[in-house]
Amino acid sequence: CGIVGYIGHRDAWPIIIKGLKRLEYRGYDSAGVALIDHGRLSIYKKAGKVKDLETFAQDENLNGTAGMGHTRWATHGAPSDRNSHPHTSNNGRLSIIHNGIIENYASLKEELGSRGHIFSSDTDTEVLVHLIEEVQEMEQLDLAEAVRLALAEVIGAYAIVVMDKADPDTLVAARKGSPMVVGVGEGEYFIASDATPIVEYTKNVIYLKDNELAVLTRQDILIKRLDNVIQTPKIHELELKL
Ligand code: GLU
Repeated sequence: CGIVGYIGHRDAWPIIIKGLKRLEYRGYDSAGVALIDHGRLSIYKKAGKVKDLETFAQDENLNGTAGMGHTRWATHGAPSDRNSHPHTSNNGRLSIIHNGIIENYASLKEELGSRGHIFSSDTDTEVLVHLIEEVQEMEQLDLAEAVRLALAEVIGAYAIVVMDKADPDTLVAARKGSPMVVGVGEGEYFIASDATPIVEYTKNVIYLKDNELAVLTRQDILIKRLDNVIQTPKIHELELKL
């Protein structure tokens, strides 16, 4: 339902929480955040409101200048802590947040299950992160390439953000049929399902198009189509309405 991601020089947690609150108008049943700090991946997720997530995580180490958050509107699997996003891979490296529906998740889940993948939720989303893990491990690929190749197997609508704790300075996002906006700052990037979480930080945005993948580091953005053709990003100026 709602997506907020950040990579830069500030603490990601407060930016993500504030952004998720700005997306609350969309309606949701659960919320969750993943943070990467010096190669450590922390995930906090809860059924309920963003406020409940904050209370749940208040005594935790919330450091990290890269992270992502999600508000979920359940389509596959009841609203619950375990079905909340982010979801993680079996090897503990990857985490994903997702808006939309993976239509062929049942057949993918069966295949992945037969190859030893163990699922810890009832969502369509979790299948994606296992698929990316499998492609990445089979071919020893970097995160962006693993995401790109895995998405070729997927039928459905999605906006996703994926993080790899072995590559802590990169966020990978992709979309098909579900909106995604990148905010371009100085030494920092924002990503969100609409511009409302971004406007207070920057008015320079890039609208990801369908079938595009974005690789964000602190210094740079690379956008390519899912067929691997590199795109020249077009930066738009938002009209500031704070
Ligand atoms: N289909 C996913 C789920 O049920 C994502 C729903 C959403 O867009 O929030 O977990």
